[in-house]
Amino acid sequence: MQIANFNKIKPKQLIVFDMDGTLTPTKAPMDREMTALMAKLLLVKKVAVIGGGKYQLFKQQLLQPLKVKKELFKNLFLFPTTSTAFYKYNGGWKNVYLLQLSQQERQKIKATFQRVFDEIGYRQPEKIYGKVIEDRGTQVTFSALGQEVVAMLGRVKGVALKEQWKEHNTPVKLKIAGLMQKYLPELEVRAAGHTSVDVTKKGIDKAYGLRQIEKHLKVKIKDMLFVGDAIFPGGNDYAVTKTPVDYIAVAGPEQTKDIIRKILG
Ligand SMILES: [Mg+2]
Repeated sequence: MQIANFNKIKPKQLIVFDMDGTLTPTKAPMDREMTALMAKLLLVKKVAVIGGGKYQLFKQQLLQPLKVKKELFKNLFLFPTTSTAFYKYNGGWKNVYLLQLSQQERQKIKATFQRVFDEIGYRQPEKIYGKVIEDRGTQVTFSALGQEVVAMLGRVKGVALKEQWKEHNTPVKLKIAGLMQKYLPELEVRAAGHTSVDVTKKGIDKAYGLRQIEKHLKVKIKDMLFVGDAIFPGGNDYAVTKTPVDYIAVAGPEQTKDIIRKILG
């Protein structure tokens, strides 16, 4: 349920954040202010982060900026690639589970992307940055401008380019996602983030993520707060509304900071 009453937030045991657009601009690291707030939050709450990005990206966006005492990492739980993987800290970051796609499934996904591009006459942007189709093992992801656009162009230019693409091409992206799901009914297809389409095993979404958090961390979903920027029909956080979780929709990291300040205050 959407909540606005901050008295209901304080007692929550665990705060679950989406990554891109919620803690950070898309694919970029947390800024200094967010990092400082997160360090304080970890002193008083358990924190889980679910995002579409791979584990390597979680390290760059979340762990590298966060200079906290190692024991605080015990309160931080990472669910990259839409919770198809789970990492927790125990004298180092350890993988708890990994829902790998088979070699055959991954080949089929890549071939189907090509089929869909041909079918709708999709043309790639003239300039792309890194892989457009990336095999993340647990997830195959289409990124219209390439995986490395923010890494290669820098945060300001890279994020601006992605936002520009999103503004003009979201209908095309949704069309690609729709056809992918039609041709791959045995798998889960999501139009995610700004420029991406993710394919994973069936039944993987952020509701699945919350259930995994409940199971592995022994915290009931109703005792969690979820914060995300895409809690609307078609958004990649929308699935959480199917669960008993209390949630707050944010427009971006600045609003997320306000929520963390209220939890701390
Ligand atoms: Mg997001």
